[in-house]
Amino acid sequence: RRIAVLRERAPGETRVAATPETVRKLIALGAEVRVETGAGVSASIADADYQTAGAMIGSAAEVLGGAQIVLGVQGPGPALLQGVAPGAWVVAILDPFAQRTQIDAYAAAGLESLAMEFMPRITRAQSMDVLSSQSNLAGYKAVIASADVYGRAFPMMMTAAGTISAAKVFVMGVGVAGLQAIATARRLGAQVSATDVRAATKEQIQSLGAKPIFVENVAGIVGEGAGGYATEMSEEYQKAQAELVSSHIAKQDIVITTALIPGRAAPRLVTDPQIATMKPGSVIFDLAAPQGGNVEGTVADQIVERHGVKIIGYSNTPAHLPADASALYARNLFNFLSAFWDQEAGGPVLDVEIGEAIRLTQSGRVVHPRLLG
Ligand code: NAD
Repeated sequence: RRIAVLRERAPGETRVAATPETVRKLIALGAEVRVETGAGVSASIADADYQTAGAMIGSAAEVLGGAQIVLGVQGPGPALLQGVAPGAWVVAILDPFAQRTQIDAYAAAGLESLAMEFMPRITRAQSMDVLSSQSNLAGYKAVIASADVYGRAFPMMMTAAGTISAAKVFVMGVGVAGLQAIATARRLGAQVSATDVRAATKEQIQSLGAKPIFVENVAGIVGEGAGGYATEMSEEYQKAQAELVSSHIAKQDIVITTALIPGRAAPRLVTDPQIATMKPGSVIFDLAAPQGGNVEGTVADQIVERHGVKIIGYSNTPAHLPADASALYARNLFNFLSAFWDQEAGGPVLDVEIGEAIRLTQSGRVVHPRLLG
């Protein structure tokens, strides 16, 4: 099977879909791997390292010619893919709701496109879960970036010149990114609290040594829906949550927001009047910036100052840790391809459950239920 690894073309994308380690492993499975010149440069991987691992290096056209599987971080432009084998796989984070035209073009070109972010959250697919691997790093980076622009230290310090008190960090949304943000802020010595709409997270927050901040005794809370994801909350709950957050947030130095609801815009968790109650010099990192933001006033890729509070949001947080984000993403792709590798077929053959979950286009048509009707 011929596998092509492209250089990413999206602005600000620093990651790459394969590393020398995964190239070596793909070759051991029986694949032929071709990597586009310069594909790994922004992730600190030289062409020569891929070559040593056994890959052929070439131009996009050389790499893609006759390729049966194309690996990307983001979906490659359809015009680039003209020379690939008929029905070739395009495996990447395809962002189909925002990139619908591109998905339609894959269909028209007869490509089989597979959206890695649709991987079901089931035990056997954990090692292929790109949302988890990238969110985990994003949660870490959100804390580090906040600490960097915060004008004070995180840990309590007792010095000859006097004592510095510990920073208070509040994490809103305790999924994969939020858990890592809590752990990272704790390691830096901050006093950490956290909240979520899913009651199950309370224990996880405590087990990391942080304080849970939860709305109690409000009717109509479900919180947890299909696949362990959050659901939209009742109006009553939202009001109670806003009040609780208002009184808590005024005492915080750093707020990290990570709340997402699948298939919807990110919920608004912090309003401008709430920001006005925070101390000058405080920092908010909005990890939901690419989905519209949890915080009023977030502008992706800028540090916005409102009421003396700095608001940060990146459009692509994992891309700020290119080497590790690529290493984990590339392993997710390898784990996926190798789990389905069929020696007789000489390549991967998907089963029904995972195939139906991630396949967007096939045989000239858009086939994913979430994109139809
Ligand atoms: P996510 O990125 O979809 O959302 C981040 C967090 O924000 C979630 O915890 C969500 O409950 C929370 N949130 C949503 N609305 C909120 C609001 N109004 N206020 C406060 N918090 C709010 O979440 P995720 O990191 O993808 O995790 C989602 C679920 O998937 C979790 O239950 C997680 O344990 C589970 N999971 C399972 C697997 C697996 O089994 N393979 C892998 C990863 C995650």
